Amino acid sequence: MAGPGHDCPRCPRLVAFRQNWRAREPDWFNAPVPSFGPVGARLLIVGLAPGLQGANRTGRPFTGDYAGDLLYSTLLHFNFAQGDYQARPDDGLTLIDARITNAVRCVPPENKPTPAEITTCRDFLKDTIGEMPNLAAIVALGRIAHETVVVALGGKRSATAFRHGGKATLGRYTLFSSYHCSRYNTNTGVLTTGMFHSIFADVRAHLDASSQDTTSPALLSGGNTG
Ligand code: URA
Repeated sequence: MAGPGHDCPRCPRLVAFRQNWRAREPDWFNAPVPSFGPVGARLLIVGLAPGLQGANRTGRPFTGDYAGDLLYSTLLHFNFAQGDYQARPDDGLTLIDARITNAVRCVPPENKPTPAEITTCRDFLKDTIGEMPNLAAIVALGRIAHETVVVALGGKRSATAFRHGGKATLGRYTLFSSYHCSRYNTNTGVLTTGMFHSIFADVRAHLDASSQDTTSPALLSGGNTG
């Protein structure tokens, strides 16, 4: 199983925080947030961690978080999603050839996971990557996601430094890195919608080019591609 259980005990600080919020808001999800989207997807998007009143409340990554507004509108724009994003897990939105997960599955106090929590939760990230047979592209949102993906794939942080717009080949995967689409980054202009779109335009072009690679022999030979 690629995800932690509902009561994952691995990070004592996060367990205590979760228990506190379960008592305060019993109707919220208040548990490790599972990945969203099909296991067969070619694209995996890795965020940081659930927001307290967003994914931690709703139980779906980025859903109800400010960052989700830009992420889901961008996925809809590039046909990685269909439906209508309404910041609710029952809004009917589905992902197409894309899946979303987080570097750390539980909401951390102040939105800041510790290095130990990132390391501990990396086991689940590795499992998530490992269970995706068609995975070809990973988008890391922010430096923490970038670094944990690099380490999860056996790379060295120092050899693959984070940079917005950076692209790295790690084994059979291409890692695209972006500034996180957080409220802070968008409000301060560190990340604009145009900058974020250009990352996903690049990913879309990359995936379209690789699918042409696989279909072209049949097309060239005039065979029936079904
Ligand atoms: N919500 C998430 O699920 N992940 C993030 O990184 C930010 C908000």
